[in-house]
Amino acid sequence: MPRQVEVEASRRFRRRWLLASGVALAAAIGLIILGLNVFKERPRVIEHGPRDRPEIALTFDADMTRAMAARLKSEQVRSWYDPAIVRELQETGTPATFFVTGLWAMTYPDVVRLLAGDPLFEVENHSVDHAAFTANCFGLPVVPSDSMKRWEVSRTATLLTSIAGVTPRYFRFPGGCYDRRDLQIVHSLGHEVVGWDVISGDAFERDPAVIVQNVLETVQPGAIIVMHLNGAPHAPATATALQTLIPALRTRGLRFVTVRDLLRGSSSPGR
Ligand SMILES: [Zn+2]
Repeated sequence: MPRQVEVEASRRFRRRWLLASGVALAAAIGLIILGLNVFKERPRVIEHGPRDRPEIALTFDADMTRAMAARLKSEQVRSWYDPAIVRELQETGTPATFFVTGLWAMTYPDVVRLLAGDPLFEVENHSVDHAAFTANCFGLPVVPSDSMKRWEVSRTATLLTSIAGVTPRYFRFPGGCYDRRDLQIVHSLGHEVVGWDVISGDAFERDPAVIVQNVLETVQPGAIIVMHLNGAPHAPATATALQTLIPALRTRGLRFVTVRDLLRGSSSPGR
């Protein structure tokens, strides 16, 4: 009987449709849960600390590419370390964090020990030779493979431990260049990635007033400020800028802390 067949077919259709939509709904819920987990567990780059405390972190990169090491060796450059920076920090009792490359640490082991031994300071990891983790990064040579990327991180950690007895917990990418996979590599080696949210612009800047202005224009509570420890010719005005910058920031009610202290007790330091 055609009518009954029709009714049967429509029931079957409805049952299938209900089943199919049930499966689709379950799949959607599953994907959402998975998505939330991936989001939660995805390694982050810490670019600043909590905004609700008047604390900021001065950070200094001690860069040393292989080309810089060669220029030092051939005496084209006198030094890649400006002691006036550390003197200024110590005389003003200003905490700071130093992201040190392995080549720099091997060149200036006494300075690394000095920094590590001063409770004002913190020494962290900035790769072995300041090669870039991605292409087209300020003209830096590129680390050629994942295993070499792992070496860049772990070799520097080992060096800093053997030279100064410190165990770095933060890594800063040379030039700030990375992709998602690089984040996973660094995290798998027990380091958190620290970037910055305030660019002092001290690289190749001769006018300390420009550096001071760059920072004062963009600083806010929780800021991580990036500067360089290299001195002239790469960062000729950093030390002079600090003479103005440190009191100016304190006048604004901001307090200097190391990155470690900036991030203390903060489960979600944010980007
Ligand atoms: Zn650097």
